[in-house]
Parts: sequence; C-alpha cells; structure tokens
Amino acid sequence: MQSITEKIDIKALTLEELKASLKIIGEKEFRAKQIYEWLHVKLVRDFEEMTNLSKELRAKLASEYELICVNDLERYESKMDGTVKYLFRLSDGNVVECVLMKYHHGNSVCISSQVGCRMGCRFCASTLGGLTRNLKTSEMLDEVYQIQRLSGERVSNIVIMGTGEPMDNYDNFVKFIRMISSSDGLNISQRNITVSTCGIVPKMRALAEEGFAITLALSLHAPNDEERAKIMPVANSYQLQDVLNACDYYYEKTGRRVSYEYSLVDGVNDTAACAKELSRLLKGKNCHVNLIPVNPIKERDYKRSTGNNIQNFKNILEKNRINVTIRREMGSDINAACGQLRKSYTDKTMVQEVNL
Ligand code: SF4
Repeated sequence: MQSITEKIDIKALTLEELKASLKIIGEKEFRAKQIYEWLHVKLVRDFEEMTNLSKELRAKLASEYELICVNDLERYESKMDGTVKYLFRLSDGNVVECVLMKYHHGNSVCISSQVGCRMGCRFCASTLGGLTRNLKTSEMLDEVYQIQRLSGERVSNIVIMGTGEPMDNYDNFVKFIRMISSSDGLNISQRNITVSTCGIVPKMRALAEEGFAITLALSLHAPNDEERAKIMPVANSYQLQDVLNACDYYYEKTGRRVSYEYSLVDGVNDTAACAKELSRLLKGKNCHVNLIPVNPIKERDYKRSTGNNIQNFKNILEKNRINVTIRREMGSDINAACGQLRKSYTDKTMVQEVNL
C-alpha cells in the first residue's frame, strides 16, 4: 500500500523550527535564515522565486514542504475613503475576507481568524452559516502578506476583528502574533496589533500570560448579563463580571489599556439607561470605549441607532469620565462591515449553483 506523507506547512514554521526541520532533511542551518527571509520579508509565493538557492534545493523544498498562500478572488475599493476589501480563496476553496484601511498614521488591515464563526452574535453576518474551520497560522500570515503584495504598501497596524473568534483558534492565533511581530519577519510592532474577543474568559487570561504588548478589545455590546445574553449567546457561558475581571487581569499583566467595543442597535442597547449602567460598570477603569453604529444585516431586524441617540450615549459616558470614541465608518459603500462581503459572495455563488 502506498503511504502518503503530508508535506510540512513551511510558512507556519518559526525560524527555530525551520532550522530544525532543514536539519532533518540534511540541509545546513544557515539556509533557514535565507528561506525565512524569502517567505516572511520578501513575501514570495513560490519556491522558484528563491533565486539565491540552487535549483536542486528549490526542488527539494517543493517536494518536502507546502507553501500556503491565499488567492485573490475579488477586490472592492471604496470611492469614499480608499478602503479596500478583499475576498481571498483558500487552498480548499473556502473564502475569507480582509480589509485594508488607510489612515494618516499608516495602513491598517483587518484579518479573519476562522472561516465562519460559532459564537452566534445576533448582529453579525459572519456567524450565520456557523463555523467551517479554523485558519492556519500560515493563512493568517498570508492574509497580511497578500494585502501588502497587492497594495504595494507597508502594513503597520493589524486588527484581528474579521470573521471568527480568535480565542476559539487560540494556538494558531498566538503563533501568528509571534511570527508577524518577529524581527526576522515583517516586524510589526505588537503595540499596533489589536485582537477582539467576544469574552472567552480562560483564553483571555491565558493571553495575559503570553508576554505580548497587543491590545485586547472586548466585544461588550450590553451593560448587563441579561441584555448581553439576548444578543451574544457566549454570555450564557461566561458571566459579565468574570469577563470584566479577565480584562482587568489583562491590564494588570500587560499594562495595556483594554478597549470595550459597543455596537449600538436602535432601541435595543442605545438608551440613556444603558449608557448609565455601562458607566457604572466601567467607572474608574483605565479603558477606552469604542461606540460602533451597527450595520444593518438583512437576515436580522436590527437597525442603526439615530445620530441623536449615539451622541447622547457618548455624552453620558464622557460625563462619567470614561474615554469614548465613535468609530469612524470606513468603506460603507463597499459592504465593508464584518462578514457582509463574504456572505454576499457565498449567497451569490449559491444562487448561481442553484440556477445551473
Ligand atoms: S462578532 Fe465576532 S465572535 Fe461574534 S459571531 Fe461575529 S465573528 Fe463571531
């Protein structure tokens, strides 16, 4: 019987792991540095592009290793602010979406950590089809690399706020942070990386122990357990007080101010009473609240809060000396909200398949 040996995912190997792996196939350790640079600094997509390696070595690498890259599927550029939304196809045909946002302080990319999501937040289009699978470390890295290749511009900030719950793909996500911020790779400052979670307490506490300087953003969205559970099923597993304690622990261990994300839904969580309750919850914490006017999705009947309600909500937090900003909307003309583009792409593909 023929044995099929799986090739090693070379892009997911740290420099040390690559050294050890090359040794096993009889290659010199110093080659690791060259190959790592081709993969993680020069961002090549093929072993053939590694021109300072011999033809024989390139062929050997291709036979031993798999070089995972995402493929450009669709691209939409906002005419309003230059935001670019990408749909990438993975090697198994799944699709993920990423966004490039251009700010004065640099280029920020928002990447996905899973195909789909099983967290079921009611306001989110990414979870409507459930979780398909976790992204590999190499796929997460290549989301950033591909945007840099396609845009020709250096990425300086990363937010892991696209499709998926990063804490539900913890090991691959943590390795991604180590590799993307490594001085042997793109060397993106950890201070410029933000990860968002819906509040998976044990993983938030584990993250506090990793020794990272990244920002933790908690998707809060309601000021008490009862209201939160109505829009976020995860609230049935972790009590709000435990989630907030985990945020405090993260701040204690890292010195990084936690960001609280609050999507405002008309008549659901945008009342003055909600703002006062939220103020009591966060008063005295060194934190930041990001108010996000929710993007309506057609499968759910949530409406965006009115401008007046958004401003009132902000004023109440400010009166209580809480740092608060209203998130500036980017790329609203290109369906840039979380999960919407991937969803409309899959819907479209499904309609085409049905029509065949
Ligand atoms: S908001 Fe985030 S955690 Fe919640 S369902 Fe959407 S992708 Fe998942």
